[in-house]
Amino acid sequence: MFSFSYKNRIAFNYILSTGLLISVVFFVIYQIIDFSVNTHINDDIQMEVEKHLEEIEIDRNNTYLIQVDQWRAREHNTVNVNPVFVQFFDINDKLIDKSPNLKGLQLKLYVYKLDNKFIDTYLNNKPIRQIQVPLFDNKKVVGHLFVAMSLDDATMILTNLRNTLFIAFPLILIVLFLIARLIAGRSIKPVTMITETSSRITKDNLKDRIELPHNKDELYVLSKTINDLLDRIESAVEREKQFTSDASHELRTPLTVLKGTLEVLIRKPRSQSEYEEKINYSISEVNRLNNLVDQLLLLARFENQKQSLKIEKVYLNALILDTLTLYSEKINNEKINIKYSFSTDYFIKSDNYLVSIIISNIISNAIKYSYENGEISILLSKENNKTICSISDNGIGIAKDDLDKIFNPFYRSNPTNHPEIKGSGLGLSIVKRITQLLHIGFEIHSEINQGTTVILRIS
Ligand code: ATP
Ligand code: MG
Repeated sequence: MFSFSYKNRIAFNYILSTGLLISVVFFVIYQIIDFSVNTHINDDIQMEVEKHLEEIEIDRNNTYLIQVDQWRAREHNTVNVNPVFVQFFDINDKLIDKSPNLKGLQLKLYVYKLDNKFIDTYLNNKPIRQIQVPLFDNKKVVGHLFVAMSLDDATMILTNLRNTLFIAFPLILIVLFLIARLIAGRSIKPVTMITETSSRITKDNLKDRIELPHNKDELYVLSKTINDLLDRIESAVEREKQFTSDASHELRTPLTVLKGTLEVLIRKPRSQSEYEEKINYSISEVNRLNNLVDQLLLLARFENQKQSLKIEKVYLNALILDTLTLYSEKINNEKINIKYSFSTDYFIKSDNYLVSIIISNIISNAIKYSYENGEISILLSKENNKTICSISDNGIGIAKDDLDKIFNPFYRSNPTNHPEIKGSGLGLSIVKRITQLLHIGFEIHSEINQGTTVILRIS
């Protein structure tokens, strides 16, 4: 199908409306001129009629006399641009007299019905307008006065005007179309630029941006919106790449360790205790791998937003105590002092499983990053209809610069400073996603070497 470019469409729509307007204006102009030319001729004829009627006298024998001398004299004295033809008929429709400019010709008498009416006709093939006025004597028609004027000039003026308008109309439209096209082309130039840049930006070229126009108009907003969108896509692609490379690295590390351990083990026969030690070590690595895969699957599930929530009454006190029991061995080994005091029972409406993942990750971090003989305090309270859960430790703390990075998958703050603490750096990114999903407020305050406080605001 023939497709009209945007530029041509704007120009076309423009001339469609302008063309309509021009044709109306032209029509009105033509009508006004036509009307004034015609009334002018009619007035002239009427005036002539009145003048000539004055020159007629009717005697008793129903014949009438023309003041010929008077007439001829006036004919001489008046300057007539448009020749006036005058003619008289008697009672028997016989010619009495006529103006000399008629030469051998005569004006035609029409049916009496047309008396006193303007009749457009031809005289010697030239257009004329004539009027036949009945002459009365005692209400009896005794003859006719004819006055006619040539329509040559009027017809010529009107024909010329009509032709000029007809030729001017398409010419004006063509010129207007070209001008409108040029202006439209200029105004949509930024759009063309946006299209070109956008098509240049492919997956590998996400760095390119659309140049912002100087005027802060709609096109500026469009360009800015596309640039913002590209920013978001670029960072999402970047995050995705980072995640994939981190995930494969994290998965490969325990596998390499496992493979190495088993290869060393098979090289020569070992003692029972040596086998047990290496196999236990391998089991712990497999567990780590298992854990990692679980966490990755959990993250992937939130990424696809397929997680359907199961909202129910969650007994927060019990959930925290259960988690503490789960980590009791580690707590005892590290001789960590857990302080918790729940004045009442705290119930919330949420997804039990997801809230348990949040609590478990935060408590596990508090334990992991505490020093020996450290202290963890867990507080539950109510504030403005919200249940506040605060978990604080006096452990290694987090550097200020890292506070906004620890939610990124695989990010671990200064892992070389504490190589003995193992982790994949996925815990807090999972917690962050779940809190967003459950609309739970989530804050971390930390001071390096002082400790960390995590606050959850559950509505
Ligand atoms: P895992 O995925 O096994 O939980 P992880 O604990 O290292 O691994 P996150 O829970 O996401 O990962 O925490 C990210 C980083 O934030 C940690 O590596 C640690 O540096 C820092 N961090 C988190 N909680 C604390 C805390 N309570 N005290 C000190 N640092 C912490
Ligand atoms: Mg953790």
